[in-house]
Amino acid sequence: MNAFENAIAHAAPASRRTRQARVVWGTRVVTIGGDAPVRVQSMTNTDTVDVIATAIQVKELAIAGSELVRITVNTPEAAQAVPAIREQLDRMGIDVPLIGDFHYNGHRLLSDFPACAEALSKYRINPGNVGKGDKRDRQFAQMIEVACRHDKPVRIGVNWGSLDQELLAALMDENASRREPWDAKQVMYQALMQSALQSAAQAVELGMRPEQVILSCKVSGVQDLVSVYRALAARCDHPLHLGLTEAGMATKGTVASTAALALLLQEGIGDTIRVSLTPQPGEPRTQEVLIALEVLQSLGLRTFNPSVTACPGCGRTTSTTFQELAQQIDGFLRAQMPLWKQRYPGVESLKVAVMGCIVNGPGESKHADIGISLPGTGEAPAAPVFIDGRKAMTLRGETIAQEFQTIVEDYIARRYGAAAAHSNA
Ligand code: SF4
Repeated sequence: MNAFENAIAHAAPASRRTRQARVVWGTRVVTIGGDAPVRVQSMTNTDTVDVIATAIQVKELAIAGSELVRITVNTPEAAQAVPAIREQLDRMGIDVPLIGDFHYNGHRLLSDFPACAEALSKYRINPGNVGKGDKRDRQFAQMIEVACRHDKPVRIGVNWGSLDQELLAALMDENASRREPWDAKQVMYQALMQSALQSAAQAVELGMRPEQVILSCKVSGVQDLVSVYRALAARCDHPLHLGLTEAGMATKGTVASTAALALLLQEGIGDTIRVSLTPQPGEPRTQEVLIALEVLQSLGLRTFNPSVTACPGCGRTTSTTFQELAQQIDGFLRAQMPLWKQRYPGVESLKVAVMGCIVNGPGESKHADIGISLPGTGEAPAAPVFIDGRKAMTLRGETIAQEFQTIVEDYIARRYGAAAAHSNA
């Protein structure tokens, strides 16, 4: 191996070293950790008491690609609604596992509503919100006992917005007595990790299988998250749920989440991910799922949808033709995917290029399975199409977009339809 190959090899994501958890609903088993793919998780923002609205949003998130969906369980009415949401989803043919998000009263809700405990596939427990003083251990044990009885995994989900204040105060005191005290941030990291690790050890002592205990330590700063998860991954082999909490809105939330997730996933840290995006008014909740899928696909960790490579455009693309074509092809491919996934196995690995001019158009198109190089300003009004690296035809005139779409469809049917027919033979 030469120096270049060596550098490339070392840049590859590390393999994950965590144990493997199983989250089950009916015949659906979602494995988390070990050699399982990194899973995408999301959370509803409906009132859980509203069974229909919550079931519809869970369905939308699942169809968008969320493999696990968390719902708030905060009141007796919400706990009562959970089995009804589950039934509604089962009737709609949506078998995505549901995770219950518990704070403050989870011990009571899980004990008082066994149908809720059974309908959920996993419980999220925030050790900072389980109870204070001597109640804390008792209430935590009560939740773990329910999880063991129903054979459900748990996520010990620490968040620095609701960190166990007694633990933090004790660590601050301990730090103050050090000859060379750590800075406050280091103490905070330590408190986050200790809260997760101590609770995990307690859950195992109470009878949980270690692989069924998933951990998270969420913070809202990218560098803080990276520091905490690197340390956490070095100290335990529990599966890790990863996400930048309270990431924010729009561009900021998307970029911050992507930066944090990418840095850690590239190191092999993280078994499930969530993008905690604040939706803009009118924006669908599914946006957080689409970003999570793109993060994993961009890193080459998973493949969900055909990818469309498009150049940014420049002074050589003074019309909007190429932007419209790129958007149209991307939208077309995404819209067809639910059907194509069934009909054309492997289609998610398709690569399409839509390029603005001759400068990089033919070259990039040749790297794709199918690509088109549109005429830039001043070029002859012709758009060469490349299929499997070779120029296959040239399109001209007003109907380039429609013709290219038909060519893409035919290519998919020919390439992936043949594979499906062969595997069914
Ligand atoms: S391929 Fe052409 S149009 Fe696209 S960015 Fe490059 S020079 Fe500009």
